[in-house]
Amino acid sequence: MARHETCVIIGSGPAGYTAAIYAARANMNPVLYTGKEPGGQLMITNDVENYPGYPKGIMGPEMMEDFKQQAIRFNTEVNIGVMIEKVDFTGPVHKLWTDAGEEIHADSVIIATGASARWLGIESEEKFMNKGVSACAVCDGFFYRGKDVCIVGAGDSACEEATYLSKLCPMVHMFVRRDEMRASKIMQERVLNNEKIKIYWNTEVDEVLGDDEGVTGVRVYNNISSEKTEINLMGFFVAIGHIPNTQIFKDWLDMDETGYLITKANCTHTNIEGVFASGDAQDKDYRQAVTAAGTGCMAALDAERYLTSKGII
Ligand code: NDP
Repeated sequence: MARHETCVIIGSGPAGYTAAIYAARANMNPVLYTGKEPGGQLMITNDVENYPGYPKGIMGPEMMEDFKQQAIRFNTEVNIGVMIEKVDFTGPVHKLWTDAGEEIHADSVIIATGASARWLGIESEEKFMNKGVSACAVCDGFFYRGKDVCIVGAGDSACEEATYLSKLCPMVHMFVRRDEMRASKIMQERVLNNEKIKIYWNTEVDEVLGDDEGVTGVRVYNNISSEKTEINLMGFFVAIGHIPNTQIFKDWLDMDETGYLITKANCTHTNIEGVFASGDAQDKDYRQAVTAAGTGCMAALDAERYLTSKGII
């Protein structure tokens, strides 16, 4: 038999846990499903230096543990590692199914599913996945201690990860596809002033090279001169942005061409009554922990007002 809940929250990053804290304190008895990567992207982030309230910075996993404990303190039911893999938003009671086959009926649903790493999409990248190819320097950098590595990308993530890798590896080759970086000035300066990071401007990856053991090098090309260069290295890191985790909602919710959920102006309402969207799943512009937490709060308040208007709470 399906369980019936007032408020189901999907996702466990800053948006999901903040929604849980607000929903729990409003007596909505939220039930949260963390998905396969509990804590979300911050679990693979090093120092978080820009979340207000932590003047000395904090490690991403530690911060997410604090978020979780705060949600649990107000009696949020947190289902660790459980994934919602199918939904039916015909309404008014919405249906969701977990990867364990459990059916849940919910009066309100808050989506906080976040976003996942984007890949280059070349064959050799796929071939050496987890055999030298990685999208998480903090998770996998340790395996390449004392070895040369590379990183693709020029945003804050790429700069942060290049800096992290430079503490473990003798040389970090950084491939930037334009003649400038998208990253904030402070992050750029850190890589530009780091003699263990070598930047290749206007450079894209042609092929990841390797053998049965894994990655042995990379062939890149200059997209102005077309000149190709082969570099010996063992680790190939990609940090070129993210894709929103919204696939399961595609038959129900309005989204843009990339998959970011579309919410109504100045609120978290989606096109379906009783379904609210927060965090990186609906934000392609700001994508910060603090903004995700902010929209998680908004989603809980919007859900509370909706449930009150329907006489459910
Ligand atoms: P971004 O979207 O900001 O940057 C992606 C980078 O990857 C860009 O430089 C882009 O190049 C490059 N890129 C995209 N596709 C390709 C491709 N096919 N080949 C080569 N390069 C490619 O993503 P981030 O993950 O870096 O950052 C996301 C958000 O998170 C940002 O708002 C950022 O500020 C924030 N952030 C903040 C941190 C902090 O403050 N501690 C740490 C990490 C992230 P191009 O510029 O040419 O488009």
